[in-house]
Amino acid sequence: MKKNVVVAIDGYSSCGKSTLAKALAKKLHFIYVDSGAMYRAVTLYFLRNQTDLHQHDLIIDALDHIDLNFHSRDYQSHILLNGEEVSDEIRQMPVSENVSKIASIKEVRQAMVKQQQKMGRSKNMVMDGRDIGTVVFPDAQVKLFMTADPKIRAERRYKELKANGEEVSLEEIFENIAHRDYQDTTRQESPLTRADDAIILDNTNLTETEQLDFAISKIEPYLNI
Ligand code: C5P
Repeated sequence: MKKNVVVAIDGYSSCGKSTLAKALAKKLHFIYVDSGAMYRAVTLYFLRNQTDLHQHDLIIDALDHIDLNFHSRDYQSHILLNGEEVSDEIRQMPVSENVSKIASIKEVRQAMVKQQQKMGRSKNMVMDGRDIGTVVFPDAQVKLFMTADPKIRAERRYKELKANGEEVSLEEIFENIAHRDYQDTTRQESPLTRADDAIILDNTNLTETEQLDFAISKIEPYLNI
């Protein structure tokens, strides 16, 4: 039987991982899964319910009440939290400010990783996140580790949020990105780190087309096998 191809994209916050992942999924007709959206949706649930993060039994109980589903339209990934479309709300600052703290909780990670591995079992897929090449799919055929100049990352994110009508400052975004990178790389549970066999992709000076071509050139050898 033909083995399904998994492309794992990891890297720092706001490096354009999802832009690349979506473009790849569209071009290769792969499924796209935004694992960050799952951590964001859990964060939204905890914020709404004011879950006490110091009580592990409450966290486990809350996780039992969270049902996450993706539905994709035009290769855009939409996430449903207990049936409610929350794709826009999870991008707003209250979630961004709390997500890395919640993503550092062991029980949360275990629950998400389990769901992610289930999704990648039988389909060609691109998944982006922080631990995809190291923990979720250590056997992925292609692993990319993305990075870019932090100032450029903040500017890109700023433009994106402004275009969506959010009232934010560039400084606020810069600080949020730096803070999330710090939390993500220093946490105990599966910290963000480059898998030994991941290819580094620094897109500071690359256009979207250039980075797409680069990624395709790495994936092509695994297609039609
Ligand atoms: O990818 P995105 O920036 O939307 O992810 C939001 C946050 O979710 C990250 O800053 C990180 O704390 C967490 N995350 C994670 N593991 C993943 C994906 C995201 O810890 N695989």
